[in-house]
Amino acid sequence: MDKKDIASYNLEELTQEMKTLGEKPFRARQIYAWLHQKLAGDFQEMTDLSKALRERLEAGYEIRKMEPVAHLISKKDPTEKFLFELADGNQIESVLMKYNYGNSACISSQAGCRMGCRFCASTIGGLNRSLRTSEMLRQIYQIQKITGERVSNIVVMGTGEPLDNYDNFLKFIHMVSDGNGLNISQRNITASTCGLVPQIHRLAEEGLQITLALSLHGSTQEKREKLMPIARKYKLSEVLAACDDYFDKTGRRITFEYSLVKGVNDTDEDIAHLTGILKPRNCHLNLIPVNPIRERDFQRPDRENALEFKNKLEKNGINVTIRRERGSDIDGACGQLRRRYQTVQKEN
Ligand code: SAH
Repeated sequence: MDKKDIASYNLEELTQEMKTLGEKPFRARQIYAWLHQKLAGDFQEMTDLSKALRERLEAGYEIRKMEPVAHLISKKDPTEKFLFELADGNQIESVLMKYNYGNSACISSQAGCRMGCRFCASTIGGLNRSLRTSEMLRQIYQIQKITGERVSNIVVMGTGEPLDNYDNFLKFIHMVSDGNGLNISQRNITASTCGLVPQIHRLAEEGLQITLALSLHGSTQEKREKLMPIARKYKLSEVLAACDDYFDKTGRRITFEYSLVKGVNDTDEDIAHLTGILKPRNCHLNLIPVNPIRERDFQRPDRENALEFKNKLEKNGINVTIRRERGSDIDGACGQLRRRYQTVQKEN
C-alpha cells in the first residue's frame, strides 16, 4: 500500500491522523511545524519526537522527495530557475525572481497541461498529471532551502492550469498562507488562469484575498479562439462576467495578461477592442511580449512597437504595464527548460 502523503494534510487533518495513532493533538502541531516551517525533508530530522513515533511515521507516511535536477542562475538579472524531479519521475519547473520588494517564486500546478494554448511550451506534451498540494508547497520549500532566501510572493504561473487542479490548488493557498506554515499573505499571491469559467465563479466564493490573473491574449472572441482552444468552450463574455464576479465578491482587482504576438494581436484594432473591454473595469493589463518557442513560429513585436501599443492603451485610460523579461538566458519562460530536458532525455 502507498504511504500517506503527510505534507498534503492541513493541520486539522494531521491532528485527526495523530488521533487515530493514539497520539496527543500537540504532536500534530509539532510535526506540522517540522514539515511546513522548519521544512524538514525527513522524519529523522524531527528530533523532538520519540524514536518510536518517528518509526511509526516512517512506516505509514512519506515526505515525498522532490530533487533538483537542474538549478540555473541567470547572469542577466537576479533570477534562478529550478527543474525538480518528483517521486514518480515527472519533472516540473519553478523560478525564483528577486525584486527590491522581496522574492517571488513562480510555481507549477501540474506536470504538463491540457489547455493547448498555441504559443505555450508547457502544453505541447499534454498533461501528465496534476500536482499534489505537497508538491506545490515543496517547490517553495526547496527554493528556500537551496538558496537560503525567503520567499515573500508567489505566482502560480508555471506549468499547468491551477483551476484544472482546483482542490489541491485551493488547499495549497490555504496552507501556504497559514500562520502555522510559511504564513505568506494571500495578497502576495497571484494565480493565473486561461479562463475556466465555472471554477472562477467557485473561487470567487472561497473568501480568498489572492489576485486572479486572467489570460486574455485575444481582444475578440474570434482572436482568442485562434490562440487558446479553451476559448471555444468558454466565451469571452462569460469569462469577463466571471472576472467581474471575482472582483465583486473579493474586492481584488483582476490582472489581465496579454501575450503580444507580432501581426496577430498587436494592431490598432486590438487596441480599440481592448479598450472597450478594460476601460469599464477596475483592472490592470500586463503585456507579455511573446517568448518565441522552438515548436511554433510566433514572433514578438519590436520593442518600439510594444511600447507604442502600451502608450496608446495608456492614452485611452488603461492601466497597463509591459512585463519585464527575466532569465531569458536560462530558458526563463514558460515550460521551456522542462521541454529541453525532455528532449535531451529522449535523444539520449
Ligand atoms: N494556465 C495558466 C498559467 C499559465 S502561465 C494560464 O493560462 O494563465 C502564465 C502566463 O504565461 C499565461 O498568461 C500564459 O498564457 C503565458 N504564456 C505562456 N507561454 C507564453 C509564451 N511563450 N510567451 C508569453 N507568454 C506565455
